[in-house]
Amino acid sequence: MPELPEVEVIKNMIKPYLEKKIISYAIVRNKKLKYLIPRNIVNIHNQKILNIKRRGRYIIIILLYNSIIIHLGMTGNLFIIEKDMLSYGKHDHIDLIMDNNIILRYTDSRKFGFWLWETKNYKDNIFLKKLGPEPLKNEFNSKYLYKFTKKKNIPIKILLMDNCIVTGIGNIYASESLFLSKILPTRISKTLNFKEINILVKNIKYILNKSIKYGGSSIKDYRQPNRKIGNFHKLLFVYGKQNKLCKICCTKIIKIKQRNRSTFFCSKCQI
Ligand SMILES: [Zn+2]
Repeated sequence: MPELPEVEVIKNMIKPYLEKKIISYAIVRNKKLKYLIPRNIVNIHNQKILNIKRRGRYIIIILLYNSIIIHLGMTGNLFIIEKDMLSYGKHDHIDLIMDNNIILRYTDSRKFGFWLWETKNYKDNIFLKKLGPEPLKNEFNSKYLYKFTKKKNIPIKILLMDNCIVTGIGNIYASESLFLSKILPTRISKTLNFKEINILVKNIKYILNKSIKYGGSSIKDYRQPNRKIGNFHKLLFVYGKQNKLCKICCTKIIKIKQRNRSTFFCSKCQI
């Protein structure tokens, strides 16, 4: 599932092709993603894109009076393609045909992604409204996170993946930032002291920024809008590395399940 860095890379790459350009019309080959594609998107006609933004794992296309909110689900990808590439595949569900010889194509093999039609006040959207702060913004800081961790009886990794507390951190970046911070993912949140939270917050920001710089992690389906893979997965320490040796201490990386999601850690480096 694309996490914050992957969605940020996608947003940054599609932006120059779409901003201030006109969506001539849409081709919707499959209306049934996680939710039905709204009729306003199916019938869109000559609408200018003012801006492209990201909030958490959502991409927002801002139009003059409305906005389109896109969630990539598990396997969704957005591609920029030339208009003369008329062929399409089984999983290419939506094309936004632009007036500048460009198509924004949405591809999603498992169809857990969705597109929503919203007013211009996209921040009031039911999904976006409940999101916690962006981890790369100043409002996400040690003081803020400690306020939650000091009273929570749940493992720290579960807390980090709660989008209402901080948005956009999933399995990969929760596992990796806990490794860098030498904190076990199973540690009960309230046992972490302020110093540990301080280190954790710094590492979360560090690792997200670094992944964006490397074009995100292409573990399974994620591709950049130019179909190239991201390169950050080559730098991972623990995620997906079960039974491999820890790059720091040569102990075998362990994989466990936490709330049905895989968690990876080094039992020697992390306490
Ligand atoms: Zn280790």
